[in-house]
Amino acid sequence: MPWINQDMCTGCGVCFDYCPTGAISRGKNGTAIIDDDKCIRCGKCHDACPREAVRHDSEKIPELVEQNMAKTFSLLKNYNESEERQKFVKRMVRHFNMQKKVAEKTIEKLNGFDKSDIDRMDADCD
Ligand code: SF4
Ligand code: SF4
Repeated sequence: MPWINQDMCTGCGVCFDYCPTGAISRGKNGTAIIDDDKCIRCGKCHDACPREAVRHDSEKIPELVEQNMAKTFSLLKNYNESEERQKFVKRMVRHFNMQKKVAEKTIEKLNGFDKSDIDRMDADCD
């Protein structure tokens, strides 16, 4: 999912006209923001921005890891006994392992699609 680096965006509005779904609007401070629910991930805003302010979501990996760690530490506070705490951390490891496997299986399936599979996808999803 593309996102806009607020420190790099000048609010020039160039990307607004390129977005086919109207997902980009001006935020309170005048810079652009993307409505994730409207974004279809076409990448046009990324190509259009003269400031390279539209960034790829892979750049958010460190931030997302920090969010996962913060969530884990926050939930850990519900456990007082050392043994319970150890078990909880192992459950979180299993939880994130499950998410990893879901992502890996999804990638495997998507990579297995050829051109005709992709062309048929619309009909299968309707
Ligand atoms: S990726 Fe496409 S749909 Fe999403 S905000 Fe950018 S231009 Fe709009
Ligand atoms: S084109 Fe780039 S700098 Fe201009 S409003 Fe869009 S994200 Fe900001």
